[in-house]
Amino acid sequence: MVKSMPARSEVSIDETWDLQSLFPSDEAFHEALSALEKEVDTFASTYKGNTKDAASVNELLKAYAEINEKFVPVGTYASLKISTDQTDDEAQMLSSKFGSSAAKVNSKLSFVTSELLALPEETLEQAMQESDEFKVYLEKLIRKKQYQLHPEVEKTLAAYSSTFNAPYGLYNTTKMVDMSFDDFEVDGKSYPLSYVSFEGDWEAETDTAKRRAAFDAFSKKLKDYQHTTAKTYDMQLQTEKTTSDLRGYDSIFDYLLFNQEVDRSLYNRQIDLITSELAPHMRKYAKLLQKAHGLEKMTFADLKISLDPTYEPEITVEESKKYINDALGIMGEDYLEMIERSYSERWIDFAQNKGKSTGAFCSSPYGNHPYILISWTGRMNEVFVLAHELGHAGHFYNANRAQNIFNARPSLYFIEAPSTMNEMLMANHLLENSKDPKFKRWVISSIVARTYYHNFVTHLLEAAYQRKVYERIDAGQSVNAGILNNLKRGVLEEFWGDTVEINDGAELTWMRQPHYYMGLYPYTYSAGLTISTQVSKRILEEGQPAVEEWLEVLKAGGTKSPVELSKMAGIDITTDQPLRDTIAYIGELIDELEKLTEEIEGE
Ligand SMILES: [Zn+2]
Repeated sequence: MVKSMPARSEVSIDETWDLQSLFPSDEAFHEALSALEKEVDTFASTYKGNTKDAASVNELLKAYAEINEKFVPVGTYASLKISTDQTDDEAQMLSSKFGSSAAKVNSKLSFVTSELLALPEETLEQAMQESDEFKVYLEKLIRKKQYQLHPEVEKTLAAYSSTFNAPYGLYNTTKMVDMSFDDFEVDGKSYPLSYVSFEGDWEAETDTAKRRAAFDAFSKKLKDYQHTTAKTYDMQLQTEKTTSDLRGYDSIFDYLLFNQEVDRSLYNRQIDLITSELAPHMRKYAKLLQKAHGLEKMTFADLKISLDPTYEPEITVEESKKYINDALGIMGEDYLEMIERSYSERWIDFAQNKGKSTGAFCSSPYGNHPYILISWTGRMNEVFVLAHELGHAGHFYNANRAQNIFNARPSLYFIEAPSTMNEMLMANHLLENSKDPKFKRWVISSIVARTYYHNFVTHLLEAAYQRKVYERIDAGQSVNAGILNNLKRGVLEEFWGDTVEINDGAELTWMRQPHYYMGLYPYTYSAGLTISTQVSKRILEEGQPAVEEWLEVLKAGGTKSPVELSKMAGIDITTDQPLRDTIAYIGELIDELEKLTEEIEGE
């Protein structure tokens, strides 16, 4: 039953995270921020214009790394504080304060890369020979050289950074602050609606009349804001296009993929192969849902229902601990200790409240412990969400300790591998420990409906749509709500064919995703899950040696490219085999669901 959300001030403290390990109070945050601004001035006056030889390069980078480390807690505090309540005025002010400070500071620090890149390449090579510490950083920097602009231009651009980031802030403000949903009615009874309750509850509601009415009410409200949101998004796209052109990239795709260290063939393969080869399996799954629920027709608003609504185990936060420990125990003592601390030291924000960010995420500040945001609904599938976020936590818990601040983060292409890996471990654990066909069906349908649906369908269709958007932008065009609606509808229709009716409102789905403000992110979900599906199979078959290799991959952080990291884990992503194997595996899971359903109904 969906209740209306409490205000943040009304939730129990045990359900909230403890930001005190970052700063004990807002005052302490403000003090640290002013101290940092002063330190940056000192840093600039000490080092600006003084980097001439290899030794001074390494000295500069050592001091630069320290400044970057001090930046982390203030940035994290500002963004986490607002994420639990976007309507909190103080948190908004604090976040804006950080944004404008960060822009000033970044502008003052921009001389570092400009001056390093102005040095002869031999000097940088020499610096790499003299010290391993900044080798990876310098290699990545040299790669960027041809796209670097004049130092004064870099400085000016950096000063505008908070303005360049404004579309994302505006998007969130429209979505989380301005948009407020009216109750909707079914058979004379009214029900409360919010962004969080729609995505967390109503979308999966088993009563078809209520579910579809919630979808209509939700879409109606989205529609009121479609033009503002499209304009905001267009601003983001035009900024990216201008940046790409100014820096001299061949296309906006090359610009956006540059930091991911993968080429366009890996990007395109993920979208093309899944669109064509996964679609038949997923249509089969949609038909299975339709049959199980006795629906006359299957619409876009029905895709999130569970296969067996009478079987939905519930779980408390306290109970989740045992599942998480048992499923992820294979990762070893150190990993388990992290999990223990994540509960006992309140790294996780479980509360459901008004104004909280939708979905779930993990923030892993360098030099501190990770933080996880989740809105706990009490449904058992939350153990998958939590296992996922703890996968990000476990990744950076390892990488942050093993690497310096510049080397900790790998390419976006790899980011969702450790997280989805934990979902696979959770599923394997649950399947091994039950003989009950209903429970088994619940587990498999959770992996299909959650893990694979989310990563291979939702995000992938976002990626397919996003590619069409960027093709337009790259050709010098712009977008508006009508164009975005058409593109989104086209992608959904192509994937679902006649199996699912793309009902009114579905075309507005592009408005729901913050990822569009993060470059070519959506496709990386399927890339990460392709890697993790194959590695989790290795762990099932080979046990400990495969786990040890995986832990080494986590520790490697950003010191290797996605192709190299996958290779360390025994997976060759330069071929399309891992992806084909993964799609075939999803097909097998759906066949297994059909079989179990027949078995259960035949009893
Ligand atoms: Zn994730």
